[in-house]
Amino acid sequence: MSKTIILIVAAGRGLRAGGDIPKQYVKQRGRYVLSRTIDAFLEHPLVSHIQTVIHPDDMDLYQAATKDFDKKLLPPVHGGTSRQESVYNGLKALSECEADHVLIHDAARPFVSSSLITRVIEGLAQDNAVLPVTPVIDTIKQVDGNRVSRTIERKSLYGAQTPQGFSYPLILDLHKQADHETDVEFTDDASLAEWANIPVQTVEGDVQNQKLTTRRDMDMAELILANADETQMETRTGFGFDVHRFEPGDGVILCGIKIPFDKKLKGHSDADVAMHALTDALLGAVGEGDIGAHFPPSDPQWAGAASSLFLEHAVELIRKRSGKIINVDVTIICEQPKIGPHREKMRQELARIMGVEAHRISIKATTTERLGFTGRDEGMAAQAIASITLRTTPEPQDV
Ligand code: MG
Repeated sequence: MSKTIILIVAAGRGLRAGGDIPKQYVKQRGRYVLSRTIDAFLEHPLVSHIQTVIHPDDMDLYQAATKDFDKKLLPPVHGGTSRQESVYNGLKALSECEADHVLIHDAARPFVSSSLITRVIEGLAQDNAVLPVTPVIDTIKQVDGNRVSRTIERKSLYGAQTPQGFSYPLILDLHKQADHETDVEFTDDASLAEWANIPVQTVEGDVQNQKLTTRRDMDMAELILANADETQMETRTGFGFDVHRFEPGDGVILCGIKIPFDKKLKGHSDADVAMHALTDALLGAVGEGDIGAHFPPSDPQWAGAASSLFLEHAVELIRKRSGKIINVDVTIICEQPKIGPHREKMRQELARIMGVEAHRISIKATTTERLGFTGRDEGMAAQAIASITLRTTPEPQDV
């Protein structure tokens, strides 16, 4: 099998995107543009290694963007004063790698698809230079000053994308020749092949594989990512159940609200049976065990703890997975005290602790018709069910 190395050109300053840092180091939805670009190639089974070319000033940003990547990513080399010089530096750095093919790619094209990469690599089985292209959609006019001089036949016009694939020895040689023999600035690598009369095969590009250049491109990329996030969400459900025994006291705490009563609930923490059931429902939905696993009753630091601590922790675990609480429904089971008069306050308190709107929270109460331990006023029980959305696979976040 031939050995294919990816050369990612990330040395540009990218100021047209309107930021104060180069666009390849802008974070979109928690990830650097460059991290997404590298990831697209790292995941491809036909890619052997990745070589990046960066600006010396960007070393800190580069390290932050690549700290989680494995050995397939080679140490970066420094770019030159032009794109062409940067590519040449990158190609020279690969001289020991015994590469058959190299794909040269712009760092600011993070949406390169696996199938596009495959098309370029497969094209190299027939030709020494392969270029992905997209048809030009707009009618193209030649303009002099502010007057149209002519309409250019659109059918034979295409936009050039990257990754552009080459025989490694050939493109290295072409860059060497160009460096010695011409002052022409080539804005892509296929142009060097054309300059040397090497046939360039075209393969189908991908409109999604856009180069992020302007502020507007960056905004569009955010939208594409937000849309992808939505489609990667799944709905989960969790169930919780808890019981606490009564003991003499002056009131019970339910959903964070103290209700005056001639008993209290016995427990290690504040014994908020309803909030415990709810916390377990949320932990169940996110697949994170139960309340006792996170806050062991044997640990003295939770003695008398407000149960809001537990609930906040469960909510935080969901947030960390980019999850959202859709709704929760709590049923409190007891003969007394009466829940109804306190229900709205309890709802508001849960909404506050969980950081969701009150309409997503339901609190109900029932008796057991004087049957069982709740019927005999020996204790209280609570059940809760929770629905949440969660990413199907957690996306890594750059911190
Ligand atoms: Mg409990």
